[in-house]
Amino acid sequence: MSIRVHRSEVIPREGFVHGFPERMGGVSTGARASLNLGARWGDDRANVDANRRLLAEHAGYDPAQLVATRHVHGTAVWRVGEPLADDAEFDGLVCDRAGPVLGAFAADCIPILFAEPAARVAGAAHAGWRGTVAGVAPNVIARMVEAGARADRVRVALGPSIGPCCFEVGPEVVAEFRAALGELPGLVVAGPHKDHLDLRVATRAFLERAGVRPEHIDDRPPCTRCEGERFFSYRRDGREGGVHMAYIGLV
Ligand SMILES: [Zn+2]
Repeated sequence: MSIRVHRSEVIPREGFVHGFPERMGGVSTGARASLNLGARWGDDRANVDANRRLLAEHAGYDPAQLVATRHVHGTAVWRVGEPLADDAEFDGLVCDRAGPVLGAFAADCIPILFAEPAARVAGAAHAGWRGTVAGVAPNVIARMVEAGARADRVRVALGPSIGPCCFEVGPEVVAEFRAALGELPGLVVAGPHKDHLDLRVATRAFLERAGVRPEHIDDRPPCTRCEGERFFSYRRDGREGGVHMAYIGLV
């Protein structure tokens, strides 16, 4: 099967290359079949490198253009070109020139892509619940504004990730989100066992409070845990499974 990449309607086709790849079309096997793009959970490095090459070829960039950092469920954002420590632990990336292609890894967490077409600034983030509630998405907006972007012109696309259908959380997680955002319609839904949290509702609220226009946010991606044929899911497969990588760059 060949590679399939979803592209969001809110990210302009002109000036940007971007996408959210599904799981097919790669060389990894077993629960990582087949386009596993993550190198940290024990897949053969040769498989990961081959998959990254296949994706780059499909997407139309050179594999050497990929810029990726180690995600740690934090809120730090690296602007490409700034001095970088060896550990390079950033959950957000921002770039204001053509060349680098930013990668955001996720398997249930939300990969988020950002584009400001007038100022020509791109961004990417990995947001699980910790990064979401701590504000990684508005941090990317703030760093994009430093790079010349205007928040009301930024387009934001949320990629395939665990949906409110599947995201059971404990009361302590619900409490953190309510403390950060207050009561929001749809944020918490009662499930059969525990409350379910809608990370997309939370992300939209953070983005709108940071000045992003409601119509510039694409926040209805498919659920990774529900759709096993198309997506990897940490909650479904654990670390035996694979990892997706969303990408965006200026062209
Ligand atoms: Zn689901």
